[in-house]
Amino acid sequence: MDELWQSLCHGQRISSRSVMFTIDDGFHDHHDVAAKVFDEFGFPLNFFVITGLLDQQLWPWDDQVTYALKHAGVEHTDIRLPSGAVYSINLEDKSAGATVREIRDALKISPQAQVYQWLREELFAKLQVDFPSTIPQEYQPMSWTDARLLRERGHGVYPHTRSHRILSTLDLTEKREEIRNSLERVGAELGYSPQVFAYPTGRPADYDGDDVEELRQAGFNMAFNTVPAYVKQGQDQYQLPRFSLPENTADFLQIVNRFEALKEKLRR
Ligand SMILES: [Zn+2]
Repeated sequence: MDELWQSLCHGQRISSRSVMFTIDDGFHDHHDVAAKVFDEFGFPLNFFVITGLLDQQLWPWDDQVTYALKHAGVEHTDIRLPSGAVYSINLEDKSAGATVREIRDALKISPQAQVYQWLREELFAKLQVDFPSTIPQEYQPMSWTDARLLRERGHGVYPHTRSHRILSTLDLTEKREEIRNSLERVGAELGYSPQVFAYPTGRPADYDGDDVEELRQAGFNMAFNTVPAYVKQGQDQYQLPRFSLPENTADFLQIVNRFEALKEKLRR
């Protein structure tokens, strides 16, 4: 991460033979499994953590949607989305996976200020799912001690908001709270000032110019989205792209050996 920043701010060419890995949210298996694999190869991994998750205050809204559908006590019900629109759930006609995707996509463009309350009072209630009193095992975070150990082993740990709500749907006060609070929590727990950030879900529609300005004012110097592209010299340092990890090795190799870049060039 430091090398990337040095290249970007000194206008140096970014080597086509360089690759960086990031992993978002901060679940326990990111520490217990993923970091160990990278340690075997002596390769640093960069973790973007949801600080409210590591603080055991919440588990991400998008995962709560998955949990609710997985444990649904009824097969059909109508829910009223935060936008006011009605969405009909029918698990006989549509798979739980497809339903999860549609509800998540609808929530991404809904006002998210009250999304956690909405999940509990509307989605869980209508699907007749008991809201867990503690974070379910599969969504348990790594601990702050784990995060400290990661840094001691040369990995990076950076903020990814407090609650993972979509920044573009929040007002200025809430945006500031998400950004500042996650910055402060990482700073307080890990004893350094992080300057790198990743936007929740990270599509260009998921953040806006006010978020970038807020990051700048808070002292961040780089931020990552999830636009699938290579980082190039001269790129907006607050909108650095990342490829998602593909499902299969062939596609993964195609990205890291820059075949994707070649295709881009040929298209041009
Ligand atoms: Zn995330």
